Amino acid sequence: PLPDPDAEAVVRANDRAHVFHSWSAQGALAPLPVAGGLGASFWDYSGKSYLDFGSQLVNLNLGHQHPDLIASLHRQADRLATIQPAMANDVRSELARLLVEVVGEPFAKVFFTNAGADANEYAVRMARHSTGRNKVLSTYRSYHGGMGTPIGLTGDPRRWANEAAANGVVHFFGPYPYRSPFHSDSPEQETARALEHLESVIVLEGANTIAAIILETIVGTNGILVPPPGYLAGVRELCDKYGIVYIADEVMAGFGRTGEWFAFQGFDVQPDLVTFAKGVNSGYVPLGGVIISAKIAEFFNDKVFYGGLTYSGHPLACALGVTTFEVFRRDHILEHVRDLSERVIAPRLDGWLETHPSIGEVRGRGLFWAIELVKDRDTREPLVPFNPTAAQNAPMAAFAAACKADGVWPFTHYNRTHIAPPLVIAEDELNRGLDVIDEALTITDQAIGA
Ligand code: PLP
Repeated sequence: PLPDPDAEAVVRANDRAHVFHSWSAQGALAPLPVAGGLGASFWDYSGKSYLDFGSQLVNLNLGHQHPDLIASLHRQADRLATIQPAMANDVRSELARLLVEVVGEPFAKVFFTNAGADANEYAVRMARHSTGRNKVLSTYRSYHGGMGTPIGLTGDPRRWANEAAANGVVHFFGPYPYRSPFHSDSPEQETARALEHLESVIVLEGANTIAAIILETIVGTNGILVPPPGYLAGVRELCDKYGIVYIADEVMAGFGRTGEWFAFQGFDVQPDLVTFAKGVNSGYVPLGGVIISAKIAEFFNDKVFYGGLTYSGHPLACALGVTTFEVFRRDHILEHVRDLSERVIAPRLDGWLETHPSIGEVRGRGLFWAIELVKDRDTREPLVPFNPTAAQNAPMAAFAAACKADGVWPFTHYNRTHIAPPLVIAEDELNRGLDVIDEALTITDQAIGA
């Protein structure tokens, strides 16, 4: 990439004057003008390249400008660029078939949406309609989307200013062995106590008022929290016992991120509804949806489903989804993810526990890892607090700036940095990025006086 300062100045000026950005006070923003991207990298107008260790917003599973996706987009644009959802369409129905095929029994149908938030919105609506109940349980430390019901379900500060949306939502504690809300000292105890807590919440809220429990199978932005053994199976049992619909939010964890098609498939559990978006087509054209169990799908055989979107099952988006399946299978993407995770990431991150005193814990699966930073390993006090002010966040900001200076775009959140590059990343690129993060962690070590 060649420097183009004139183009950069125009992008920057128009953006600052006219683009209203997400989740931010607008005044002090300085978004990076991006000129292009390829595979696991993107570059700015000065010609500086960054390895994308957050896959944009953990959606770019097949990387930038994947040639098969771009060809598929051109092909579909030439054939049929759009068609409304009440008509049947070849790529839409083929993608639905492929989705049902990979999740297997008891799933039967797919409702397509434009993104992850509306996938969760409609999954909850299906649960409410089919159970005749209103309440939904979700965890603290979760994110389910930026509007309506999903922001009400969210268990992080993004909900706080949008509290009115939380109609019928009750939050509970999910498992988090490193910072156990239940003071447990083993994963087994964490599972047992977390399930006991969840059952108490169900009973005290009134089981017959609860339509659904929604869980990120592995909590994403709020910490790559991998559920301890037996937890998800225990949630399934509670849902069966009390007639509650189990919704697995796989918007971030799905599509190979954890080395499985869907993360729940690594935990021997069957949800009733599975929501997806992001990795289904790497976000080249917005797409999400709900994979629906036969039982819930059949409920709507003679009852109207009151929900719909003009662009439900958009052919440009669905064609890219079909091609995503082809590329995953042809290029053995799931195997590549598992291999890099086990052979490269896990041993390197484990080694860093010896060399970086500011690391409290490393955890993850596939290309979905968190490095949790602490002030003190014994007390586990976080390096920066939950929802830090800019001043409190200074050591994390310094860490991120060092990564960027050395050509890695990191995904940081509170006291963590996540390792979530595109699934197509090559081993040498991954190692190069990890070298940069390794070096930048000396800054957080210094911040705690080590
Ligand atoms: N659910 C999870 C777990 C997510 O991580 C996200 C987005 O980050 C969403 C839902 C919302 O998806 P979208 O931004 O496509 O609406």
